[in-house]
Amino acid sequence: MRRLLTALGLLAALLGGVASAGASPVRVILWFDTEDYLSPNDDDACLRLANLLTERGLRATFKVVGEKARVLEQRGRRDVIAALGRHAIGYHANFHSVHPTPSEYLAECGWLDGVAEFNRREGPGAADVRRIFRVSELACYGQPGSSWAPQAIGALAGMAVAPHGVPCYLDDGSQVGLENRPFWYAGALNVFNLGVNQTRMDLHDPAALEPAKARVGGIARRLAAEADGGLISIYYHPCEWIHREFWDGVNFRRGANPPREQWRPPPQLTPAETDAAFRQFAQYLDHLRSLPEIRFVTAADLPLIYPDLIRTEGATREELIRMTRRILADRASGLDFMVGTKRAFSLADQFDALSSVVAAWTTGAELKLPLPIRGLLGPDSPPPTNSTPKAIDGYALRDSVGDVRNYLATQGRIPARVMIGAIAVPPADYLVALAAAADEQQPGRAFAPADNFPMGRQTVVLPARRIAEDSAKVFGGWIIHPEGFRAPRILEQARLQAWTLKPAQLAPSANH
Ligand SMILES: [Zn+2]
Repeated sequence: MRRLLTALGLLAALLGGVASAGASPVRVILWFDTEDYLSPNDDDACLRLANLLTERGLRATFKVVGEKARVLEQRGRRDVIAALGRHAIGYHANFHSVHPTPSEYLAECGWLDGVAEFNRREGPGAADVRRIFRVSELACYGQPGSSWAPQAIGALAGMAVAPHGVPCYLDDGSQVGLENRPFWYAGALNVFNLGVNQTRMDLHDPAALEPAKARVGGIARRLAAEADGGLISIYYHPCEWIHREFWDGVNFRRGANPPREQWRPPPQLTPAETDAAFRQFAQYLDHLRSLPEIRFVTAADLPLIYPDLIRTEGATREELIRMTRRILADRASGLDFMVGTKRAFSLADQFDALSSVVAAWTTGAELKLPLPIRGLLGPDSPPPTNSTPKAIDGYALRDSVGDVRNYLATQGRIPARVMIGAIAVPPADYLVALAAAADEQQPGRAFAPADNFPMGRQTVVLPARRIAEDSAKVFGGWIIHPEGFRAPRILEQARLQAWTLKPAQLAPSANH
């Protein structure tokens, strides 16, 4: 127990040190979904927008649709490609709104087939964007409209076309979120659902400028007062400077899927209206640049600003003790991610860590500290519903944890069920037994196989509550999806991936 108290004391001292550090920089990520492949006018809007930013010394993030990259190449717009290429290049699906969109084709999928299907359909477009923009890596991906699915995020690390994967998910939506801040989920760094930390200005209403300036200034001041600053997300589409109506609504509204021969460009604004919108946006940018708290970042910067330190540094003994005690204390009310100073542990991280501790103890192997923590995904299907035995004996624990470690190493995800002999046990209930066993492990105390270790009973995975409940507006709010479109299986898969959810924390060097 003294060891635990020392760890907690150290933690309090570290937290106090951060809280007294004073005003923090606030980061702004400006991103543009670059997607209208129908109007040649949109190419010019992209060029003008990219240059407007570059002239101001600003770097933004352009998420480019595969077909948009291909039409820029076909139309010989090397000038547009070069201008966009001065910014970070991300990916925004292969055809964006042509049906089936990602949520439509993933609606009935499980995990592995969904990841494979996303790669099959979207991988070639990602390869085209990389080739045409001559970038070795794509900075991020984000979904068309509300066509979100966790399988798309899970696919990013292994996207066959990108040797190092796509490290970030950058978009907006309601399906998952964590207190309006960046988070880790399904193997990627997510900037998504920033809520009150997301803002924009109407480009076409002159009266919108001053209120928008006041709004973003207010967000910046609020975040600067918080210990680790924060991130403001601002996004547009280049086509908003030229369109009266969105390019895809004209063609693919509510499930409509005309053949390519019948695609038509949307109605356009007059050149004077476009000019006015660019002038107003320039004024908004100049205001942002004048705010002392603000630093502009791109999606390519995010992995350095928010590193997942436990992947490189491992877990310390104090952290292992803390997560053990926490799981045992919380088992009746539910288990959650664990946040420390600059380091956070998802439930998947805790499962990895404690299964490693218990495997070492039950086999007499030496535990290497700090303990390496790999990035596991969540289970691929719901847990078994039969009731879990009250306890597990040491022999069964030793044998099952060996099997679990092998599963984690070969599959890279939390098992949907842990087999205790013939009995299937939910992984959250098993995690409680792992904590009970880890808690028994004291220096000089050998593993006693005849001991019993309590298991959890229907242990609640609390991060699953951060996933949206199924409703008509989660997916059906996007004008491109069919009227009333719902995808409850996507949300079920999303809840399983809540095992991987945890806050993204600033690098120690990033807070000045
Ligand atoms: Zn889009």
